[in-house]
Amino acid sequence: MTRSGQVKLKPGDTVGILGGGQLGRMLAMAAARLGLRCQVFSPDPDSPAFDVVLNATCAEYADVEALELFANDVDVITYEFENVPAAAAMVLDARRPVLPNRKILETTQDRLAEKDFVKRLGIGTADYADVCSASSLQTAISRIGLPAVIKTRRFGYDGKGQAIIRAADDIDRIWTELGTRSAILEAYVPFEREVSVIAARSADGHIECFDVTENEHRDHILKISRAPAAIPAELAEQARSIAAGIADALDYVGVLAVEMFVLAGDGPKILVNEIAPRVHNSGHWTLDGASISQFEQHIRAIAGWPLGKPVRHGHVTMTNLIGDEINDYVQWLTVPGATVHLYGKGSPRPGRKMGHVTQVD
Ligand code: AMP
Repeated sequence: MTRSGQVKLKPGDTVGILGGGQLGRMLAMAAARLGLRCQVFSPDPDSPAFDVVLNATCAEYADVEALELFANDVDVITYEFENVPAAAAMVLDARRPVLPNRKILETTQDRLAEKDFVKRLGIGTADYADVCSASSLQTAISRIGLPAVIKTRRFGYDGKGQAIIRAADDIDRIWTELGTRSAILEAYVPFEREVSVIAARSADGHIECFDVTENEHRDHILKISRAPAAIPAELAEQARSIAAGIADALDYVGVLAVEMFVLAGDGPKILVNEIAPRVHNSGHWTLDGASISQFEQHIRAIAGWPLGKPVRHGHVTMTNLIGDEINDYVQWLTVPGATVHLYGKGSPRPGRKMGHVTQVD
């Protein structure tokens, strides 16, 4: 039996969470409802997740002693973000099970490794090429064509570390501004819509997928998610089976999100854009719009408990409150049927996710 299969928490046991943002906060709240405690590790003293747990470790991910003490205090360790440093994951894994398995981070932290992995499974992606210099970018453009999207291989999120390249653009300037030596060029996908699948997998290989979610971005940041996505049933089934296939191939334990493009026309209908090895913003609707949330599914999976069978309560819309939009929270509180979630973050910087609202019809 694998190590992940050996984890069987009891109520009262402690889950260690790496990362103290809103995802960690909502994971800790779901764990609390199941009678589990959480300890959060984050270098940021203003971490929203610190507010909802009794024990917090505020230290850098390079602080080996703090990592070891943290590991000693918990029964299993999980994370709310994919950029957990490999060295930190290794230190922790030597002491307590880390779920999802830290090897998964190697694939999902690097856009090239991730695309290669998805392609090996026979799943469609945008055409892509490895780029390490202005001249290799030119070569990639002559093969893939324009428009195209250049993305740093690592540490990109919410549209950061990427740029669209169009025919009239100065390629050398774009390359210099990207400020990296490892990037991928992707063909621009003329998608009809963007969807995601939130899937949970337990250590014994059982998988539960939530209904496919349709996502609308504004300025590269998720603004609205709707479930179910307005796509034909067979396409939704295909999307769910792609996510399940990825979870199986990774021997995944926990919740993952697979972001996909849906294309119009006669060719392949679904292309995978990205895998997030964690709970995901496009799954927040499950908190109020389904019988079990993505956060609870994740906690159940890493606790070695049975997954729930999620039942959706209706047509669900989740609206992110970004930056200054948080100042409208009082208006949202008076909207009939709306459920308001505020993350307890201090300053509403532009682009910062401050809360969300769920509405079920
Ligand atoms: P990502 O960081 O890869 O999730 O990309 C952020 C957003 O940029 C996506 O949700 C899409 O809206 C857009 N995008 C990324 N890659 C492509 C692509 N190859 N073609 C068209 N749009 C893209």
